[in-house]
Amino acid sequence: MRLSKYFLPVSKEAPSDAAIASHQLMLRTGMVRQNGAGIYTWLPLGLNVLKKIEQIVREELNRAGAIEILMPTLQQADLWKESGRYEAYGKEMLRITDRHDREMLYGPTNEELVTDVFRSYVKSYKQLPLNLYHQQWKFRDEIRPRFGVMRGREFLMKDGYSFDLTPEDARRSYNRMFCAYLNAFERMGLTAVPMRADTGPIGGDLSHEFIILADTGESAVFCDKALLEMPAPGADLDFDADLTAEVEKRTQHYAATDEMHDEAAFAELPEERQVSARGIEVGHIFYFGTKYSEPMNALVQGPDGQMVPVEMGSYGIGVSRLVGGIIEACHDENGIVWPEAVAPFHVGLINMRVGDEACDNACNQAYAALTDAGIDTLYDDTEDRAGAKFARMDVIGLPWQIVIGPRGIANGVVEVKNRKTGEKSELSVADALAMVR
Ligand code: ATP
Ligand code: MG
Ligand code: MG
Ligand code: MG
Repeated sequence: MRLSKYFLPVSKEAPSDAAIASHQLMLRTGMVRQNGAGIYTWLPLGLNVLKKIEQIVREELNRAGAIEILMPTLQQADLWKESGRYEAYGKEMLRITDRHDREMLYGPTNEELVTDVFRSYVKSYKQLPLNLYHQQWKFRDEIRPRFGVMRGREFLMKDGYSFDLTPEDARRSYNRMFCAYLNAFERMGLTAVPMRADTGPIGGDLSHEFIILADTGESAVFCDKALLEMPAPGADLDFDADLTAEVEKRTQHYAATDEMHDEAAFAELPEERQVSARGIEVGHIFYFGTKYSEPMNALVQGPDGQMVPVEMGSYGIGVSRLVGGIIEACHDENGIVWPEAVAPFHVGLINMRVGDEACDNACNQAYAALTDAGIDTLYDDTEDRAGAKFARMDVIGLPWQIVIGPRGIANGVVEVKNRKTGEKSELSVADALAMVR
């Protein structure tokens, strides 16, 4: 992409109303534009990142056997009356009436809708296990939307739902999602720690929040350092195998948010392993049994011929929250430092002297070579001052910068800079290409 033909409204000033780094940086780099409290337009740079995250989530869920669908944002109230949640949900739910005075709502979550899909088509245990997910906008009328996209009112969530015949099968489905989540977050460059979460009135131990550590996180969290050092199960994991050991390897270590914190148990850890920090909830998985299938009559026939309510779990990822969360975890004093997998472009190419024939030619050639090699490149071909170009490239945080100027051309070299380490090297175009690949 040529910057002169792109839409990248970067501003120098940090907006005064943004309290944390990720929110400031997202506004400054023109990733999003606020429309109303907790409601944002995604501009090109921000949308690029959002799509990358969405795609990683999709690939990791598909690998774990989940199947993508797309449910609507607007729902009829009827199903929520069946489950009993229409009254219970409270003010976070945006309620709407259509022209025929039918009660509708903008979905804050989709258990009811997906249960209705399930009961309409699935009648036998032979069609199980089933795991359906979508990535769709949600609306929650948060009392205090803040921190930009991290606590929006309209936000993009991946929500998935598992269906099984027995609680044991449901646990296997839960374990698959547990591992898939770790893989997905690791691919995004994040260390996400699964922490025991409150299961509410259903009880049991099958709910985990996935938390990334950041000083600006909204919850206080406590965990064993071992969890921060443990790699994700990885792409080779066989999702058809028994994943109990993978899950237990992690759940045996202490990890809890403030709501579930047990000071005495935490104190038993050796002091050097006690991590007490703040965290951002980027995902949440939950086994809730027959909470919806019973009132909504979603029954399946077991091998014995008996009809029983299907066992369900739900699995959420804050896709749009992750954009802010990743920036919280990955920035420095000069701006964003994108992990490669989610960067809006892989390389920023800077032309130091637009209008100079040798410079323009060298840049055009490098740009063509990068593009031909399938490397997503943002080419700064604007007439702005060199200093402004450097600052802009730093703040938008692409993993690599290639700088081409008259002095280098005279010596047959370009400058390659790694945004994360700041390391610079002078290389031929061919070597530069090999380096950023
Ligand atoms: P929180 O505790 O932050 O309010 P939640 O527990 O209400 O989140 P869940 O119902 O577990 O949220 O939803 C699944 C995921 O959706 C969360 O883990 C989070 O990443 C994301 N999410 C929830 N609320 C918001 C929001 N207002 N803005 C952006 N993302 C959100
Ligand atoms: Mg909430
Ligand atoms: Mg929560
Ligand atoms: Mg939650």
